[in-house]
Amino acid sequence: MREYFHNIYMTLKTILIGMRITLKYCFARTITVQYPDVAPTLQPRYRGFHFFEIEKCIACDQCAKACPVDCIYIEKTGPRKVDKATNIAVGGAMTRYAVDYAKCMFCGLCCDPCPTDCIHMGNIHDLSGFTRDSMVVEFTELATEGLQTPQPLWMQKDRLPEWAENTRQQWIDRAVPVRDEMEKAMVDTTPPKKKK
Ligand code: SF4
Ligand code: SF4
Repeated sequence: MREYFHNIYMTLKTILIGMRITLKYCFARTITVQYPDVAPTLQPRYRGFHFFEIEKCIACDQCAKACPVDCIYIEKTGPRKVDKATNIAVGGAMTRYAVDYAKCMFCGLCCDPCPTDCIHMGNIHDLSGFTRDSMVVEFTELATEGLQTPQPLWMQKDRLPEWAENTRQQWIDRAVPVRDEMEKAMVDTTPPKKKK
C-alpha cells in the first residue's frame, strides 16, 4: 500500500517538475531569428554537411566502414597513397565519393578514422532537395567545380545577405590553393608498369 501511494506521489511530482519548465517557457520572451537575413548562431563543434578534401583522400574506405548507416559511397580506379613530399594523394582516380544525406545522421564517426584527415563535419545546416536522389551529394562532382562542400539551393542565388555571401566566398577561397590537385585526384596517375 505504501509503495502504491509513493508511486502516485512520484508521478505527480515529475509531472509538476515538467510543467514548471513548460510554464517557464510559456511566459518567456519570444526570440525570432531572422534567418536567412541574419546569420544563425552555430556552435564551434556543430556537425553539419561534410567538408571533403578530395586531393588528400586515399580511398581507403575507412570512413565508409565506420559509418553506422552505410551512406558513404567510394569508387576508385586503383590504389591511392599520399605523396609525403606534397601531402597530396596520387595513384588511382577517385571516380566517386558521395554521401547520402537522406540516411546520414551527422554523427561524425566517419571523420575519426580517416588516416589523412580529409573528411570533416562542416557548418552547413540547411541543405535541401526536391527528390530523394538529390539528397545524395556527389563530392567528386563538386570537386570539378572547385567546391569541397555542397551549397544550399538558396545560397546559389546571385543576391544574398552579406553574411551568406561571405560564407560562400570562404568556401570558394578555401579550395582555391588546391584546385589543381582536386582535379588531378580524379585522374589516374599510376605510373605504367615496366615491361619485363
Ligand atoms: S556523419 Fe555518421 S552517418 Fe553521416 S556519413 Fe559520417 S558516419 Fe555516416
Ligand atoms: S577515410 Fe579518409 S582517406 Fe579513407 S576513404 Fe574516407 S575520406 Fe578518404
